[in-house]
Amino acid sequence: MRPSKRLERIPPYAFAELERKIADKRAAGVDVISLGIGDPDRPTPALIVEAMQEAVTEPETHQYPSNRGRADFRAAVRDFYARRFDVVLDPEREIIPAIGAKEAIFNLNLAFLDPGDYALAADPGYPVYTGGPWLAGAEPVLMALEPELGFVPDLGAIDEDVARRSKLMYLNYPNNPTGALVPEGFFERVVDFARSYDILVVHDNSYSEIAFDGYRPPSFLQTPGAKDVGIEVFSLSKGYNMTGWRCAVLVGNADALHTYWRLKTNIDSGLFDAVQLAAVAALSPEADAEVASMTELYRRRRDLVCEALKKIGVDVRPPHATIYVWAPIPDGYDSSTAYCEHVLEQAAVVITPGAVYGPAGEGWFRISLTTPDDRLAEAMQRLGALAK
Ligand SMILES: *Cc1c(COP(=O)(O)O)cnc(C)c1O
Repeated sequence: MRPSKRLERIPPYAFAELERKIADKRAAGVDVISLGIGDPDRPTPALIVEAMQEAVTEPETHQYPSNRGRADFRAAVRDFYARRFDVVLDPEREIIPAIGAKEAIFNLNLAFLDPGDYALAADPGYPVYTGGPWLAGAEPVLMALEPELGFVPDLGAIDEDVARRSKLMYLNYPNNPTGALVPEGFFERVVDFARSYDILVVHDNSYSEIAFDGYRPPSFLQTPGAKDVGIEVFSLSKGYNMTGWRCAVLVGNADALHTYWRLKTNIDSGLFDAVQLAAVAALSPEADAEVASMTELYRRRRDLVCEALKKIGVDVRPPHATIYVWAPIPDGYDSSTAYCEHVLEQAAVVITPGAVYGPAGEGWFRISLTTPDDRLAEAMQRLGALAK
C-alpha cells in the first residue's frame, strides 16, 4: 500500500500520539490524569438531549438532509446571531450547517486552495489550519501570535508577496490554545488587510459562549465590512457539551458559503436533521441558563488551576474565556515537550506542550479544564509536589 504524498507530508495528529502514550501508561497500571484534550466532561444539557430524542422518532428526519440546512435550523441560527451578537444574517444565503467546525475548516481548503496557494494560519493554532491546506496541496504560512500584542499576529510583518499569494486566513478568538480574547481594534485591521489582498477570512468561533468575569466575546461578523471579506464557523461542540454530536454552522459571506456548498455536495450529504433540531434547542434562549452554569464551572476550575500554578512559581495570566489555561514552562527545561514529558513521567499528569500547536507555542504549555474538579485538584497537587 502506498499512501498519497499529500498525506505523507502532514505530521501525525498530535493528540493521536498523546492518546497512545496515555494508553501505554494506563495499561501499566499508572493512574494517569489527563488535562490534555479539550473535550467537555459534563453531559449535553437535558433540553438538547430531549429535543434530539423527540426528533429521532420523527420519520421525516430519517432521510437525506439538505446540504443547505433545514429552514427551522437556519432561523434558529439567525435568531441566535441577532440576540447574542446583534448580527443580521439572511437565512437563505448567509447560513449553512456543517458537520462540526473541523469538517468546515478542512473543506474550505479544498473549496478555495490550489497547489501554490497560501493559507495564513494562526500559530499556535488548531492543527487543521495547517493540515487542511497541506491536504489541499497548498501551503500553510504561519502567523505567530505575539504575546505582547495580546496573542494576535502582527499583520504589518506579513511579507507582501506572501499576502498576495494567500487566499485564506485562519483566526480564532476566544483563542485555543492561548485563551486570549480579541484585542480592541484587531478585527477591524483584519478586515482592511483582507480587503487589500483579496483574502477570505475564516474566523473559527468555537468559544464565544465560554467566557468569565463579565466578558461577552464578539462575533467577527460584528466588525464593519466583515461580511464582505469573511465567514465565521460557529461550533456547538464546546459551549454546549456537544463534541460527539458533530454540529456547527458557517455564517457570513454569501459567495463563500455558496462555494463551500458546491464543494460539499460532492463530499457529504449534510447534517442529520435530528441533530439540526437539537441545535435549534441549544441555540434557544431556554439554553442560556445551562451555558451560564457550565461557564461558572469552568471559572471555578480556572481559579483552582491558576492559583495552584502561581504557588509553584508559574507566571500564569488567568484567561477570561475558553476551557484552557496557557502558561510559560518553568525555568530549567529545554522545551515544552521536555517539561510535559517530565510531568507525565514523574506526576502521571498529561499537559500539552505548546509546540504541538505550532513553533510559536514553544516555551508554553496548555492545561484543559475539562476534567472533574476532584481529579483536577489531585492533578494540581501532584504538580505542586513535583515542583518541590
Ligand atoms: C474544538 C475546536 C474545533 C473543533 O470543533 P468541532 O465543531 O467539534 O469540529 C475547531 N476549532 C477550535 C479552535 C477548537 O478548539
